[in-house]
Amino acid sequence: MQYSETPDSAARPPGHTRRRFLLVAGAGVTVTAAGIWLVATAGDTDAPEATPANPDNPRGLTEYEPVYDRAAKGLEAPLGFEDCARPTVRAGRATAGSDRHAVTPVIDRFIIHHTGTTADQLDFFSRCNKRSSAPTFYLRHDGSVIELIRPGVKPSATGADWNWRSLAVETLNSTGAPEYAVTEAQLEELSQMIAWLATFDGKSLDGVPVSFTIDRDHVITHRETWSGTECPGPYLRSRVDDIVARAQQIFREAPVT
Ligand SMILES: [Zn+2]
Repeated sequence: MQYSETPDSAARPPGHTRRRFLLVAGAGVTVTAAGIWLVATAGDTDAPEATPANPDNPRGLTEYEPVYDRAAKGLEAPLGFEDCARPTVRAGRATAGSDRHAVTPVIDRFIIHHTGTTADQLDFFSRCNKRSSAPTFYLRHDGSVIELIRPGVKPSATGADWNWRSLAVETLNSTGAPEYAVTEAQLEELSQMIAWLATFDGKSLDGVPVSFTIDRDHVITHRETWSGTECPGPYLRSRVDDIVARAQQIFREAPVT
């Protein structure tokens, strides 16, 4: 989770292209249409609020084919934008830091987070939440993954010095304090994500150049970027070396494409 008071998403938008705006405007129309459909469906009963939400898409967001092929689905969360209350301009990977200095976009870090809670957080990550928290991936207890923003888009998870160069995963805890454990299925899936990212080394992923090898320089925890957080908790921090070793094994055994 991001506890910083200055998330990337609070920064001012740079100049943007009309094409981008139109693309996002189109998505907005789709969301609106889905919203109307939900309202119309709910209207068939006397108690619209009783309509059960889909646990895999509690806010009725537009769905898309995820870039990460092991993800269950992609959701067009109103996050990863310059201003999530007005989701029109995607946060770009070409600026970094609270001073928004220019950088050359690259994905060279995979950053592990935990939610700090055992209750499902998909609803939280499906709206313009109070921390504007937008991980690339949300990982549940059973190892299933929801892609919340496209890998090409800058996540808002680790702070302005790291978001621009990273993919971020929020791992739902299976126990609370003090250990903040996760499941074996989640450990395995973290390794799968890392092995997948490594297949893009020297290429581009969703339009962004990747420079990523599977080691402890490139796979890091939130706490390793900022000592002011305990994220991702003692348990996950104690397992990062195992996660990396397993990712290396998956990568070695994968068929060369
Ligand atoms: Zn975190």
